[in-house]
Amino acid sequence: MSKELDREAFSNFVRALAFASRKHSQQRRKDADASPYINHPIALVSILAVEAGINDCDTLCAALLHDTIEDTDTSVEELVEAFGGPVASLVQEVTDDKRLPKAERKLRQVEHAAHLSPKARPVKLADKIANLRDVADSPPVNWPLARRQEYFDWAKQVVDKIPDPPAGLLSLFMAIYGRRP
Ligand code: NDP
Ligand code: ZN
Repeated sequence: MSKELDREAFSNFVRALAFASRKHSQQRRKDADASPYINHPIALVSILAVEAGINDCDTLCAALLHDTIEDTDTSVEELVEAFGGPVASLVQEVTDDKRLPKAERKLRQVEHAAHLSPKARPVKLADKIANLRDVADSPPVNWPLARRQEYFDWAKQVVDKIPDPPAGLLSLFMAIYGRRP
């Protein structure tokens, strides 16, 4: 018997994947191999859909798009036009204000985590899980031990502020947090 995907949901998902891969096409992650940037949004959807069983289409599309406003020339209006207001809002919720200095942005993330909407919470958690896995296994080049430890500690502070975090994702987070360098 054939298993059919929901056509509209799957089409939106693939459009988000294509959009993110185009926007991030010239970027690389900070690990020694300079991995393609798109591996990171794909890691988020794998954590959400494959590991945590989350299949809400807006959440998965927002995960694919979560770094487009922060790290590329993408505007909120562009996301509204292509994916609608709800997905664009989710991406905005997990976007840092790049006009602020880095230390200030990191403090803001901790404060802002308490006010995340229910659908933005899984995206934020998956981002932290993916980045801690990267810091543990393929960290940015030239990050000494203290910086890797600080990153783990800061991610924990953010996650501790997320209200009612989905249990499956929280246990994935605690599993990787247990590998703090
Ligand atoms: P960055 O914000 O510069 O880098 C971490 C971010 O890079 C991640 O959140 C992730 O963001 C992205 N990223 C890309 N590739 C990787 C990878 N392989 N592994 C993990 N993350 C990756 O670093 P910090 O979080 O340390 O923030 C800078 C802060 O650190 C400032 O406050 C600064 O003052 C301080 N600092 C500390 C130093 C120290 O030695 N302790 C030295 C210099 C600065 P995304 O998911 O958004 O792509
Ligand atoms: Zn990210």
